Amino acid sequence: MDRSARARAIVELLAAEYPAARCELDYSSVWELLVATVLSAQCTDERVNRITPGLFGRWPDPAALAAAPRAELEQVLRPLGFHRTKARSLQHTARQLLADHGGEVPASLDELVQLPGVGRKTAKVVLGEAFGIAAGVAVDTHVRRLAMRLGLSEETDPERVAAQLERLVPREEWVLLSLRLVLHGRRVCPARSPRCDACCLQTLCPRIGV
Ligand code: SF4
Repeated sequence: MDRSARARAIVELLAAEYPAARCELDYSSVWELLVATVLSAQCTDERVNRITPGLFGRWPDPAALAAAPRAELEQVLRPLGFHRTKARSLQHTARQLLADHGGEVPASLDELVQLPGVGRKTAKVVLGEAFGIAAGVAVDTHVRRLAMRLGLSEETDPERVAAQLERLVPREEWVLLSLRLVLHGRRVCPARSPRCDACCLQTLCPRIGV
């Protein structure tokens, strides 16, 4: 089976396994989704979800966050790691949103990646989840690892992995493929000790590097 056929078969099996895949970050507005996604870098969604109710309760919108005392914001973000960098990025993003977009999160990849701390992966997540726009396959550590093991990409740079997946899979599958690979990576194919015997992809997977 060539790579393209394998990719299509993997998409189908993952869709059957995770029909209701969704973003696991808690949010109630596009702004909150953007903040939670930025905070999820180098951190689990679960840990982000533990601190965001307090964060959003205290500073509910870009204007409030932009005006927050930096030390207090850092304290709230401390459990996530990289709290100084994340606090600085969030405040710069909030200020830039207010200055350039009237405090609204823009619905375009080019505009989102201009915001401090917002990379292409974060932008793709926000566009797919909040606006229903398939701007690309969002590649995090799980997607990158699974793309390698499944023989769909030999690249290590996330954007090169994304480009390969985007060539293999139809646009309408991009958003859900990313969500499903993340779920599969967490539940069945973690970095250490993948559970190949229990994996729905075992007959297709060349298990590269396992
Ligand atoms: S067969 Fe093993 S290596 Fe391949 S996706 Fe499944 S758990 Fe991961």
